[in-house]
Amino acid sequence: MAILSVDNLSKNYGPIKALKNVSFSVPAGTVYGILGPNGSGKTTLLGIVMDVLKASGGGYTLFDEAPTAHHRKQIGTLLETPNFYHYLSAVENLKIAAAIKGRGAEDIDRVLQIVNLAHRKTSKFSTYSLGMKQRLAIGAALLGNPEVLVFDEPTNGLDPVGIAEIRELIKKLSQSGKTIIMASHLLDEVEKVCTHVAILKQGTLITDGNVDEILVNEDVVELNAADLQQLKQVMQQMPGQTRVDLSDKFVQAFFPSGAADLAAVNQFCFSKGVVLSQLQLRKKSLESKFFELTN
Ligand code: ATP
Repeated sequence: MAILSVDNLSKNYGPIKALKNVSFSVPAGTVYGILGPNGSGKTTLLGIVMDVLKASGGGYTLFDEAPTAHHRKQIGTLLETPNFYHYLSAVENLKIAAAIKGRGAEDIDRVLQIVNLAHRKTSKFSTYSLGMKQRLAIGAALLGNPEVLVFDEPTNGLDPVGIAEIRELIKKLSQSGKTIIMASHLLDEVEKVCTHVAILKQGTLITDGNVDEILVNEDVVELNAADLQQLKQVMQQMPGQTRVDLSDKFVQAFFPSGAADLAAVNQFCFSKGVVLSQLQLRKKSLESKFFELTN
């Protein structure tokens, strides 16, 4: 079953095209990242799905059906930093959140356990760290035990410890069977927690699917020799390489992840009459892959 299927979705704000014919599908049980730089349309997309914004074109389904308020009730959301009352405790704030959402207040203790705030449940919100505040916001999204969670930039503004805590929490929620859809501009975050990803750039879907397939790491071998042109030509003949680039300082040969064999490279070059002065394996960073995808 698809939790969410987006079909040719478009959104214009006057002359600004925030989404251009975007289509993708979120399978049940996945952690689905919507990845893109600032302004790529992530928030707009989530806003349309949660019925806060109207699409200019296209449509979407929830749970394989035309979306209704009933469907949205099965989705817990964290779309922006929620307004909690600073002088009230976690429990009191969640009681209000539950009342606003029309969700029962009976599972406040359960939710506080999950987000690891049970020990501070009677402390005032104003005494919480940023990370605790964000965990409380996720707790509010968990009220009523929805099967699906939608988070917009869940780690925004947090320090590394806070980020790690949210990451663990998302993994825990996923293991308990929830489907999680999250927008992020951080490739690293998506790579660490998401099983699937849709990459947006200026409102256009660049690619979507399984993270392991999309964000494949390549092996990059950096080589140097007296004659770089000759080195490049030789490496282009080497079996197994997928691409050879020449910069002004060295040659880079690309191999599928795990397939680069430095001894074999050295031997191959030597057999072709090239003596290497440098030979080094570099993993291609996901950062550069993302850059490649969005530029
Ligand atoms: P961010 O991470 O910065 O929130 P985003 O990927 O979520 O970025 P959106 O907030 O969806 O992107 O914005 C997409 C585009 O639509 C941007 O060019 C933005 O300036 C524009 N936009 C968003 N909301 C409005 C609005 N209410 N009126 C006009 N333009 C808007």
